[in-house]
Amino acid sequence: MSNSGWNFDNSYARLPQAFFTDTNPAPVASPNLVILNGHLASALGLNPKALQGEEAVAVFAGNKIPEGAAPLAQAYAGHQFGYFTMLGDGRAVLLGEQITPEGKRYDIQLKGSGRTPFSRGGDGRAALGPMLREYIISEAMHALGIPTTRSLAVVTTGDAIYRETELPGAILTRVASSHIRVGTFQYAAGKGNVDELRILADYTIKRHYPEVTADTDNNKYLSFLKEVIKRQASLIAKWQLVGFIHGVMNTDNMTISGETIDYGPCAFMDTYDPATVFSSIDREGRYAYGNQPFIGGWNLARFAESLLPLLHENEEEAVKLAQEAISEYDGLYRQNWLAGMRAKLGLINEEAEDESLAEDLLSLMQKHRADYTNTFRALTLGQLEGAELFKAPGFSEWQKRWQERLGRQQEATAESQQLMRNSNPAVIPRNHRVEEALDAAVSQSDFSVMMKLLSALSNPYAYTPEQEEYCTIPAAANRPYRTYCGT
Ligand code: AMP
Ligand code: MG
Repeated sequence: MSNSGWNFDNSYARLPQAFFTDTNPAPVASPNLVILNGHLASALGLNPKALQGEEAVAVFAGNKIPEGAAPLAQAYAGHQFGYFTMLGDGRAVLLGEQITPEGKRYDIQLKGSGRTPFSRGGDGRAALGPMLREYIISEAMHALGIPTTRSLAVVTTGDAIYRETELPGAILTRVASSHIRVGTFQYAAGKGNVDELRILADYTIKRHYPEVTADTDNNKYLSFLKEVIKRQASLIAKWQLVGFIHGVMNTDNMTISGETIDYGPCAFMDTYDPATVFSSIDREGRYAYGNQPFIGGWNLARFAESLLPLLHENEEEAVKLAQEAISEYDGLYRQNWLAGMRAKLGLINEEAEDESLAEDLLSLMQKHRADYTNTFRALTLGQLEGAELFKAPGFSEWQKRWQERLGRQQEATAESQQLMRNSNPAVIPRNHRVEEALDAAVSQSDFSVMMKLLSALSNPYAYTPEQEEYCTIPAAANRPYRTYCGT
């Protein structure tokens, strides 16, 4: 194990005791490594070969604490579907922060590692299917160029867990810039200890926004709030642009670093429809595709509220500052989205009508039930066949407008086409392909389907022949695709 390359520091463990509870992972029966992310391991300064050894696998299983680690469960709160709750890591422990050879700091967290003081009624465990699903989708998001937590390894535990049926238990090793959430700030604010809130804010600024300093800003906490708003506006625009539906945008599942976190009930949209919801518990569509930008703003407003005591000593003034900052969010989101849409349409310069050009395409896509990813892929390849959309009368008018718009830019056609290729993924983790991979892995211990899928998803903008088979849309199903939380 000594040559695994672990190089821990534990800055979070040096925060006030209120923010965490020292907790060791609960040992499991017989760990078995089922997937290891070699590239990520190397980037973290770890040794992929050594990580496959028995002692190293025992670390991923929580049976052995690596040298220098200081395992803990983090305390946090959160608005779940709009309702405030006290939470905390109920089935995860932070082993520590890996310092890479370049001096970067990443949280190493075991998810599914057993009960903690925050487990409430839960068993603290996770099943193999959902942990592999998180692995696939988080790595696909990374390859798409979207900030996200990463997946380093999945081990099976040898213990069964019980949901509706008996399932094989597993643990995911999750890597993140940090696991500090909007809910971490809500927790600190809720305790009413302003000194602790300030310590958390200073810690987070140092870790994620080092450019925000007291020297350059009169009000560094306001600058911090504004920077978090900027990162989330950018992140959520990126989700919208690839058709990603997070599914459970509770405030405890929104990071301060601006990384996507918590791949429970998430899924990618096939047919374009803003009302798309996959999560079985999201009955009112709070977290529907088209509602995500709004929910992002709602969550950031909760973050701003938690910072109020730091923004100004006078509460009224603090509220004013927070509201001003929050009011920027919609415009920032829209700017990010429009910039991304221009790129998807190959537009290099800017014209006032670009927004309606994009919106009109989306309306046509919705009307003719077009596949989101494949429509942009077809526009990129100039292969407008097959789909009903391309035969619709309104489409040829739209296409004419688009072609004229492209004709009004100085840049070469090749440059515009390259921009489209770099902005429109040829492949996304489509639900039926993900399910197929999980089924082979979980039911038949056949990981080859998943490995092949991961390979196709690893360079989504490559447009290789091998990727073509992953572009097929699912056959019409009797029942809509459903995803589940906390599995
Ligand atoms: P999530 O919906 O995954 O964001 O989880 C919400 C909260 O429930 C978090 O505090 C989790 O730690 C906790 N939780 C989810 N699943 C379990 C489980 N099996 N055992 C204990 N706590 C859990
Ligand atoms: Mg969560």
